[in-house]
Amino acid sequence: MAVTVVSHPLIEHKLTLLRRRETPTALFRQLLREISLLLAYEVTRDLDLEDVEIETPLERTRGSRLSGKKLCFVSVLRAGNGLLDGMLDLVPSARVGHIGLYRDHATLQPVEYYAKLPEDIGERLTILVDPMLATGNSAVAAVERLRTRGARRIKVLCLIAAPEGLRTFEAALPDVPVVVAAVDRQLDERGYIRPGLGDAGDRLYGTR
Ligand code: URA
Repeated sequence: MAVTVVSHPLIEHKLTLLRRRETPTALFRQLLREISLLLAYEVTRDLDLEDVEIETPLERTRGSRLSGKKLCFVSVLRAGNGLLDGMLDLVPSARVGHIGLYRDHATLQPVEYYAKLPEDIGERLTILVDPMLATGNSAVAAVERLRTRGARRIKVLCLIAAPEGLRTFEAALPDVPVVVAAVDRQLDERGYIRPGLGDAGDRLYGTR
């Protein structure tokens, strides 16, 4: 598996603000959106281009445009939506899918309760977005779901990963690239990433 840890001063600065206990909901949401723009830049780095001829006000010239079908972003509900908004700012024409998963607190295993994906997902580069790759179980379940629906080219975009989760993900899906802003120290016994930022969904939507 290729894990890319995106290193950029703006990401590190904003991520530090995001982690702080006292960061209020509105600022958390804003920071996550800003970081997702920077991560989107990295995860789309190898998109295919084709030549195109255009006319400037002065002369004809050659340029480039994205080739092939539009991208598909798939958000893992509900925290994935915090990354999705910024991604859509950068690629407004992308198609969007949603997968609803909750974590059974006893087993830490993901349980799917919702899935709505574009019909032609198999023809699109699909980027799964979920801020926290903790145990890795949800990311594995979501990618497997995308595959059963025909997705062939898949990348995973996260904000923070635990080393344990990355190992689980790699063992299950060695060919799926992961792009992440930070790999933290460890997963705790409750399945939280340490030092992490707490529950991303709660912090995003102020539910706790
Ligand atoms: N999900 C979260 O929102 N936070 C964690 O630390 C782990 C999983």
